[in-house]
Amino acid sequence: MDHKIVLIPGDGIGPEIVAEAVKVLDSVGEKFGHTFTFEKILMGGCSIDEYGEPLTDEALGKAKAADAVLLGAVGGNVGNSRWYDVAPHLRPEAGLLKIRKELGLFANVRPAYLYKELAGACPLKEEISENGIDMVIMRELTGGLYFGERKTEAINGLRTATDTLVYNEDEIRRIALKAFDIAGKRRKKVTSVDKANVLDSSRLWRSVVKEVSADYPDIELEDMLVDNAAMQLVKDPAQFDVILTENMFGDILSDEASMVTGSIGMLSSASLRADKFGLYEPSHGSAPDIAGKNIANPLATILSAALMLRYSFDLDKEAEAIENAVEKALKDGYRTGDIYEEGDKKVSTTEMGDIVEGNI
Ligand code: NAD
Repeated sequence: MDHKIVLIPGDGIGPEIVAEAVKVLDSVGEKFGHTFTFEKILMGGCSIDEYGEPLTDEALGKAKAADAVLLGAVGGNVGNSRWYDVAPHLRPEAGLLKIRKELGLFANVRPAYLYKELAGACPLKEEISENGIDMVIMRELTGGLYFGERKTEAINGLRTATDTLVYNEDEIRRIALKAFDIAGKRRKKVTSVDKANVLDSSRLWRSVVKEVSADYPDIELEDMLVDNAAMQLVKDPAQFDVILTENMFGDILSDEASMVTGSIGMLSSASLRADKFGLYEPSHGSAPDIAGKNIANPLATILSAALMLRYSFDLDKEAEAIENAVEKALKDGYRTGDIYEEGDKKVSTTEMGDIVEGNI
């Protein structure tokens, strides 16, 4: 089957790391008999240089017509006046906001996985980390406190600020369905995180998630209060498989979960909607400080490509082949500079891509 992928290499290290992911995808296509066709579009600073805006409607149209999008990163040094001395909607990062909104992506998935070989980067005690960390945080992206009505006004002579946290049942149901589907491809457990002892929105969240769970009898559902979840993530992270939560709780918990696994150069992510379409990208930025030096870690982008195979194309075996190839590269001692420790074999961006490709 032919899968149409739009590539957004972007700025900084983006083009270097996306090129390595393409190499690996080509190799997977060859081995498993799939055709991946790639079309590149400009977004971010490179699009500003070419067209005067971070994402043209034409480029957006191409992304909309694809089966999935693979993104490197956009943005540069904020000191780059060419890109930043302009109105906010014309800056590189505005392209990201536009594409996420226009594509209707409402679910962000961030895996937190601790590779045995990188256990040294885990800040938790060994007796905790040795039980393993392998979870995904599923965060609602388009509702909740960050999108509710807000205002600051004077009440009784005091400056008073109000933010509102709104969810309707459809918004909760559609992400819950995604979470149960993803748990079905993993260890079959969903932990729904809320603050139902205080918030009405959480009580609705809890009841809708419970309704959805009725259609997934083989998947265990557990409810957990967010304060407890924050503690459990550092006390016993091995208990988690899929954590499902609303926007703000997910914002905070996904950063906490990623920190316990160590390096930023290893963290993949996916943004999904109700159909199979998704946008896949590393969790890190464009790292302008190391751009063009062939030293960036391409593994987060390569692992994002694996998520694309699993979530958008239902190619589970192929996704696993990429993940195993990355694991083997680490087992064999290969490291880019960001994860290098004495005794490892230091490799460049392109060498790491070649090694993973060779392991497919
Ligand atoms: P960053 O993630 O780009 O870099 C933080 C640090 O991590 C830097 O020292 C960098 O060298 C290092 N790093 C990041 N990725 C790495 C990799 N793959 N291999 C090795 N080292 C890596 O964050 P920042 O410096 O705050 O932001 C730089 C630019 O990226 C800004 O313009 C910001 O707006 C943009 N940004 C874009 C995205 C995105 O495109 N989704 C996300 C975050 C930041």
